[in-house]
Amino acid sequence: MDKNTSPKQTKIKFLLPALGVAVVVGLFFWSGKFMTTDTAADGVARITPADSLKTPLPSPSATVVMAGILEPATLTAVPTDTSTATPSPTNTQTPTALLPTQTATATSTPSPTPIAAQDPAETAVPTNTPEPWPTTNPTLLLKPPAEIDSSQSHLWFGRPVDGNNIPSAPYRFGMTYNQRLVPHRAVDIANDPGTLVVAIGPGTVFYAGEDIETLFGPKADFYGRVVVVKMDWQWEGRTIYTLYGHLESVAVTTGQVVNPGDVLGGVGSAGVALGPHLHFEVRQDDPYDYGSVRNPELWYWPFSGRGVLAGRVVDANGYFMPGTRVNLECSDGTPRTVNTYWDQNTPPDDVLVENFAISDLPAGSCRVWVDLFDEVVEQFVEIQPAELSVVVLQARP
Ligand SMILES: [Zn+2]
Repeated sequence: MDKNTSPKQTKIKFLLPALGVAVVVGLFFWSGKFMTTDTAADGVARITPADSLKTPLPSPSATVVMAGILEPATLTAVPTDTSTATPSPTNTQTPTALLPTQTATATSTPSPTPIAAQDPAETAVPTNTPEPWPTTNPTLLLKPPAEIDSSQSHLWFGRPVDGNNIPSAPYRFGMTYNQRLVPHRAVDIANDPGTLVVAIGPGTVFYAGEDIETLFGPKADFYGRVVVVKMDWQWEGRTIYTLYGHLESVAVTTGQVVNPGDVLGGVGSAGVALGPHLHFEVRQDDPYDYGSVRNPELWYWPFSGRGVLAGRVVDANGYFMPGTRVNLECSDGTPRTVNTYWDQNTPPDDVLVENFAISDLPAGSCRVWVDLFDEVVEQFVEIQPAELSVVVLQARP
């Protein structure tokens, strides 16, 4: 099955330009120059945010270009992935005049208080859920909320747990758990040990078992026990994988066909985890590549009556503002925050080119605001049930 040809994909406001690929490699080299990583003794790359963290977003028409920046930069920073790396497609062109200059990077924004993560481990133990969600909603596992339009560009899949499905708010995709952990490549969903983990869509089990000899993360035994599912539906010609980590038990075998809601295993704390939770990833193109992740909150359905917001926080020159707190005041009166992606190892969606996303927002108007250079920048966004909305927050010149 292929969902590529959906006409509703044009709903996304950031359109793809034809010139995108031509600049990919130039930007790759450009961004790679500024990446600073060092590898700790445990083999986990520690990312040192610097001015280079800001990813330039020269114009909405350059969305493909931006993706080109981030993906190769990600690949360079991933330590010791020795397994069948599938190169990112068509990074063979030469740079063009669209390349942002180093000067622009150096002068645009202050660095976001770079603090090396003290513990590179995948240790988040989400303890408090910000909202009183029902702990079990089995219908979400099998069929989407009634409002879901299955032809839209994202939000294709169900939720991965037959239990709590609310991710840990301080450790969403690209966040650092208040600068205590390395930037997250996933969402963490706390549940009791043994809670059933299920396939979020139709696919085939690409891998199931321990990640000791076959690596999917930055080091062996990172996920403990992991299931990787190759999804049936391609997106923009790209293959999508879903990854379920730290499992207590595995209930499927490699090659097995799975349908939405099929049990893959049980929640655990195997590998680098201190407490039981599901570490859930979405990957694109290369299932082995720890850097091929995308934000899972763009891919699974929001709860009924809720929507998803993806956005960019950029400086006056259009450069990503990393590690910036985004505040949301939505129709239910519950204050919410999410931080923009900490570094370039947290790649955005190829079409949205977002640097934050948050799911399960109540339908209605949301005030979204950030403090940029001691000035509040705000936008009002209308959240539609079962839909993805986008917003751009840009600092004033
Ligand atoms: Zn995690």
